[in-house]
Amino acid sequence: MNHALNISAANPNAPRLNEGETALPTSLAGMTRAQLREAAIQIGVDEKKAKMRAEQLWRWIYHYGAQSFDDMTNISKDLRAKMAAEFTLTRPRLTERQVSVDGTRKYLIELSPGVECETVFIPDVAKSGALCVSSQVGCTLNCTFCHTGTQALVRNLTAAEIAAQVMIARDDLQEWPTSNENRKITNIVFMGMGEPLYNLDNVSDSIDIISDGEGMGIGRRRTTVSTSGVVPKIKELGERTGTMLAISLHATNDDLRNELVPLNKKYPLAELMDAIRQYPGLNNSKRVTFEYVMLKGVNDSLAEARELVKLLKGVPAKINLIPFNPWPDSPYECSDWDQIEAFADVVNRAGYASPVRTPRGRDILAACGQLRSESQKVRASELRKQRLAGEGQG
Ligand code: SAH
Ligand code: SF4
Repeated sequence: MNHALNISAANPNAPRLNEGETALPTSLAGMTRAQLREAAIQIGVDEKKAKMRAEQLWRWIYHYGAQSFDDMTNISKDLRAKMAAEFTLTRPRLTERQVSVDGTRKYLIELSPGVECETVFIPDVAKSGALCVSSQVGCTLNCTFCHTGTQALVRNLTAAEIAAQVMIARDDLQEWPTSNENRKITNIVFMGMGEPLYNLDNVSDSIDIISDGEGMGIGRRRTTVSTSGVVPKIKELGERTGTMLAISLHATNDDLRNELVPLNKKYPLAELMDAIRQYPGLNNSKRVTFEYVMLKGVNDSLAEARELVKLLKGVPAKINLIPFNPWPDSPYECSDWDQIEAFADVVNRAGYASPVRTPRGRDILAACGQLRSESQKVRASELRKQRLAGEGQG
């Protein structure tokens, strides 16, 4: 019989089983080193050898992208059979894949029954390709310009589910085994669905997996975590992950930011800027990216461009002007192109280079802020009700 690995008991997001249901075999794809070691012990590997076995598994899973235990030729047939009886190497199910006219790819991924997230691959940004990953299904914050913000939080993603998004994209792009040349996915950006700093433990573990040089090897300096400004977690993010920081700024004064990014009411601009200054390791080669969505007549005046420059004084910064990407019934319009250029000009003259982000994948709703899945949180009480209703009918 397959039994779930102990680690899932400590995982509050692990799917709960209804009475009479049997656990599906646990997948090793997405596990940390420590979890792989536990898995080896679970199938009878001697504790002294478990670390070595975990290393072998790590290499097969994250360097070769193995999807079958049969591929693992340096592991005995007997042990492979034991593994296959208890575990799988499957990734969460890819339910839909869309390719934009500009080459952007959007993946809809089913994490557990009825719970889906989106992941977007954006090719050829200066000879590199970025994979935009989700950290939550839905979001608890309600930034008024963001489509994800209209979807209530369903749940946090586990570290395995975040790492699996990279694995699924690599499967699709045929990027196994990991090579140092001509990689398609060179960068990871946590700019998909959700607020990464409200799921920092799992985000941090997933970065350990994704950045590891013995596996996928997408380095920490090539990984950017974007936050809407969860002030108490910003320094911790830097200390735990060593990644690049991006801040969704969008306004230069508290009144407007309170409206656009309601989290600003809790952590106003002065506190936010203080926290950013404390981000570990900032210098001219490790700059903070400030994202600024261009909303027509709302935050796009040249006076605001000048305010923006003033606000960032003394912080090693890059500015990313993002043309607003509309979504069904969105309450804003994108600034006119002339206005974006004039705004960019002010920012450029202050020493910030080429800051406008070309929208990618708009035709498949894959651009920034357009991601939203149909998943809804179903409360345990609601599930019980549905079950009882089903039983009543049966
Ligand atoms: N929750 C995190 C990361 C996900 S959002 C955050 O807010 O930073 C990724 C980026 O897309 C953020 O900068 C966000 O402000 C921006 N964004 C959201 N909706 C957008 C839209 N409709 N058009 C353009 N950018 C948008
Ligand atoms: Fe959440 Fe980021 Fe969208 Fe705001 S912009 S609602 S924090 S995903």
